[in-house]
Amino acid sequence: MASSVVGRFAPSPSGRMHLGNVMSALLCWLSARSAGGRLVLRIEDIDPERSRDEYARLIVEDLRFLGLDWDEGEGAGGTHGPYRQSERTPVYEEALRRLDAMGLLYPCFCSRAELHDVTRAPHASDGRLIYGGRCRNLNAHERAELSARRRPSLRLCVPDETIRFVDGLCGPQAQNLQEECGDFIVRRSDGAFAYQLAVVVDDIAMGVTQVVRGRDLLDSTPRQLYLYRLLGGQPPTYYHVPLLLAPDGRRLSKRERDLDMGALRARYGAEEILGRLAFLTGLRETAAPVEARALAETFSWSRVRRDNLYLPEGLFKS
Ligand code: GLU
Repeated sequence: MASSVVGRFAPSPSGRMHLGNVMSALLCWLSARSAGGRLVLRIEDIDPERSRDEYARLIVEDLRFLGLDWDEGEGAGGTHGPYRQSERTPVYEEALRRLDAMGLLYPCFCSRAELHDVTRAPHASDGRLIYGGRCRNLNAHERAELSARRRPSLRLCVPDETIRFVDGLCGPQAQNLQEECGDFIVRRSDGAFAYQLAVVVDDIAMGVTQVVRGRDLLDSTPRQLYLYRLLGGQPPTYYHVPLLLAPDGRRLSKRERDLDMGALRARYGAEEILGRLAFLTGLRETAAPVEARALAETFSWSRVRRDNLYLPEGLFKS
């Protein structure tokens, strides 16, 4: 019987892939392929200000170089497209219409400065803003007046409810949406659809059953599960993989050019990169070169390290 696992790569083309992205992509690929599942490649170019076609092209090329293949999207065909978020506007508009028909959307006129005003906006422990609902109860007159001055964003009302789920790597999670997040933006004031909305709409439309991504997105998952409920989709299983930290504890980011795929490819072959990552994540006891396909034969989530990973000095030498 064919496996029903459908995983996805969902890169944002806002920079070249760096080592942390490659690690997430490798685990995503291994999880799907070791279960005989399929993979979708969706380019998350939803934010026009940050996305570049050139980066999308390089991401596709770098994944191919690593031997991490996919079955749908970007050069592979498929019937659930388009596979670029910038081409999916009608699908997101339809989702917003449905949420609006439920009476759950409202325009928010708060400026950035107002949102950061701590006296009105409490902060979660990690410094994230919790929206206090200031624009939720504006009357029609106030809305009309504010509309004349500012383009609003659109927020989705959240219930006073704790959303629970079990992450495949991080274990049981719980978040009260009202207390720890507040009503959240589904369309920005510049008209761009929000990541939270787009990712859920697309994962439902593309039949995704398994989401493997960086731990920085663990905290978004309760919002996404709430959207699944509203939009009537079956939530996927989640694996939030450790973040890769520099030896001094800083998080590696796309700004770390010496560990992006351009710099890595200048020094290593695909199997050397994968071998070192397999060692780092706990999949192998040696950092010797290895092909992705060979790793899939013995892959098990039980072997993947759960804590954030410090990049040992010298593993990827510059
Ligand atoms: N596009 C997001 C990123 O590159 C990932 C979204 C997701 O996996 O849900 O950070």
